[in-house]
Amino acid sequence: MYSDKYSVYIHIPFCKARCGYCAFSSCTDFSLADRYFEKLFEEMKFRSDKSKPIYTVYLGGGTPSAVDARYLDALFDKLDECFDMSQVEETSVECNPESASDELLSCLARNGVDRISFGLQSVNDATLRAIGRLHVFSDFVAALDRAHRHNIVNVNADLMIGLPESRDDFVRSVSTVAALPVTHVSAYALELHRGTSLYAALKGKQPFDDDEQADMYDEAAELLAKQGFARYEISNFAREGRQCKHNLHYWQEGHYFAFGAAASGFTDGVRFTNPWDIRDYIAAPVADLREGSSETIDSREEANEFAMLGLRLDCGISVSEFYERFGIDFWQFFSSADSLRERGFLLCEGDRVRVPSDKFYVVNSILSELWQSSDE
Ligand code: SF4
Repeated sequence: MYSDKYSVYIHIPFCKARCGYCAFSSCTDFSLADRYFEKLFEEMKFRSDKSKPIYTVYLGGGTPSAVDARYLDALFDKLDECFDMSQVEETSVECNPESASDELLSCLARNGVDRISFGLQSVNDATLRAIGRLHVFSDFVAALDRAHRHNIVNVNADLMIGLPESRDDFVRSVSTVAALPVTHVSAYALELHRGTSLYAALKGKQPFDDDEQADMYDEAAELLAKQGFARYEISNFAREGRQCKHNLHYWQEGHYFAFGAAASGFTDGVRFTNPWDIRDYIAAPVADLREGSSETIDSREEANEFAMLGLRLDCGISVSEFYERFGIDFWQFFSSADSLRERGFLLCEGDRVRVPSDKFYVVNSILSELWQSSDE
């Protein structure tokens, strides 16, 4: 399953307004767009490499759909100029429903985009208002229809678990979305970050406790399964053959270039993160962007990360692949692995090790126990 090709992630940090829970690198000052894209293209040119065929492309944000289509046209031209795009298998773009206009979608379609990930979060308009989203549910339905009309039929909808709404509202979101022509659903738990307006509005208190969220997650997984969405990663559910290739590549510790503010990449054993703030990113000389943030990952660290990411997948990891890639025996490397297996927290099926489905909600504690026992 692992691909030794390279993927590309590009961060587009602009948003029309700041959502109440947002802790991403985003910026509402569109007057910076010219300078941002100039710098982004300079960075891509500086790192250009035609020797490695690109496997997948992902434009994330921020809100890539919020910027003028001419920037995106230029971005795809720059990708062609700097990389070998002849073997790309998937090009995804994050969009918000209110900005996925016909003009924008036609730009994406002509540039070969074949997957859209919509930030929907909830189908309840009152909830959307409460968390500061700019769209209402009908905007999503219209944007989904427009995407289909532009022949982009591989569509994800992001939902959030634990928003300030009732449990019934959440369940309604899941069942409504599952009945629509989407191919993929991501369901992430709300994280309340200090300094956000939602944190202040809720006085730092999560609307649901951990047990309630676990029940809501299980109910969502069950509902989605009934509608043909199989879980393949803890937060991700897809119709057959519609798993996100880009994210799978990332979870399988694949190599990927990353460009733009706050973008993190992993190439040739080096992990790096660009400056978080868009103004710092614009101001830094391109050769210094990774200064202080690059870290060489040795093969034992990489092995550890491979297991941590891979065990969040339903299919888990292959023990023989682990050995082939890192020259290390999985069971020796993680001294707690045997005990976790005996206690039912890891399951062995032939060559694969995975977290059993009914233990998925405690995957973080399982991985933490495993990580602490690693022979890194
Ligand atoms: S759309 Fe995403 S990145 Fe932009 S403000 Fe909302 S949560 Fe943050």
